[in-house]
Amino acid sequence: MHPVPQADPRISYLAHKEAIDAAVARVLASGWYVLGEEVAAFEREFAAFVAAGHGIGVGSGTDAIALILRGLGIGPGDRVATVSHTAVASVAAIEMVGAAPVLIDIEPQAYTMDPGDLAAALAADAEKRIKAVMPVHLYGQPAAMDAIGRLCREHGCFLIEDASQAHGAALDGTPVGGFGIAAAWSLYPTKNLGAIGDAGIVTTSDPALAERLRALRQYGWRRRYVSDEAGVNSRLDELQAAILRVKLARLAAGNARRQAIAARYDAALAGGPFAPPSRRAGAVHVFHQYVIRCPNRDAVQARLHEAGIGTNVHYPVPVHRQPAYAGRVALGPAACRESERAAREVLSLPMFPELDDRQVERVCAALSALRRG
Ligand SMILES: *Cc1c(COP(=O)(O)O)cnc(C)c1O
Repeated sequence: MHPVPQADPRISYLAHKEAIDAAVARVLASGWYVLGEEVAAFEREFAAFVAAGHGIGVGSGTDAIALILRGLGIGPGDRVATVSHTAVASVAAIEMVGAAPVLIDIEPQAYTMDPGDLAAALAADAEKRIKAVMPVHLYGQPAAMDAIGRLCREHGCFLIEDASQAHGAALDGTPVGGFGIAAAWSLYPTKNLGAIGDAGIVTTSDPALAERLRALRQYGWRRRYVSDEAGVNSRLDELQAAILRVKLARLAAGNARRQAIAARYDAALAGGPFAPPSRRAGAVHVFHQYVIRCPNRDAVQARLHEAGIGTNVHYPVPVHRQPAYAGRVALGPAACRESERAAREVLSLPMFPELDDRQVERVCAALSALRRG
């Protein structure tokens, strides 16, 4: 029997092969390959999906974050608060614009930014260098946006969302992406909405910021060949946009399938020894990852591997412990202790919409076997 993979973007292509191949053929025949009608249509359709006013297609999720920061005038001398338990991209993007990250600890159950540690970091920031706060909606679950939003208003900071793992998630009826001035979305192949290559998008309901970002992503052009300000090249191409339109039409169904798989795993975990992931009250969790927490993680991973169940660790080393960042990035007062514990204990089970019922049953059986020791 083939092992059950933890993730498999190829199966997602094969599941929608006809529609994707037709979209690719349409673009190839059109003769227009970068920033054209497919991109404009995808921007409109994705913005509508997350109830934002504007979408700006860009080259990657990392670029989406960096462009938002540049668009808000954040750069050298400024600080941006985010988390250490995330894809390193969240932090790399802050340094791309010359700003300095401040890494806030996480809530141990939700794995997202701890508003208590954020409050302490903001209180300690006497010179008001923290200009923006960027929580990450990790694993598909919204961060504590109520408390974080209130702190941003009190301290006059921009609220930016790293929504790269939460396409379609919501909290108290507000879709993720609607809490801050802008949201960054990676569209990397394994995300809930994934291209077949690199891609990203910014959403915002601020028309002036949207207009500035459209210029910044292409050399600062508002008119062709005229750079009003210095920009970059971070464009979305027509092939990726056409593929993303096919995938976007299936995103809600894909998220529903992820939630159904999560419910089956929850049932298999009932009775221990590992607790299912917590759900924030009022949240629609879209299960980019289904993550359990095991103090003996490496042994559990090895046993699941023997049972033919693929797993992965998101992420094994918090950003502030990575060689490139250790000892030089600022931490919040909690010193990221929960982030370090999470990095030692988290384990991601197989999770993508195309898992079939038999594969899900095999994972559930292997989880039940863990209970028998
Ligand atoms: C994937 C991801 C990114 C980076 O996106 P790229 O498209 O790979 O640049 C940023 N933040 C989070 C939370 C992510 O999961």
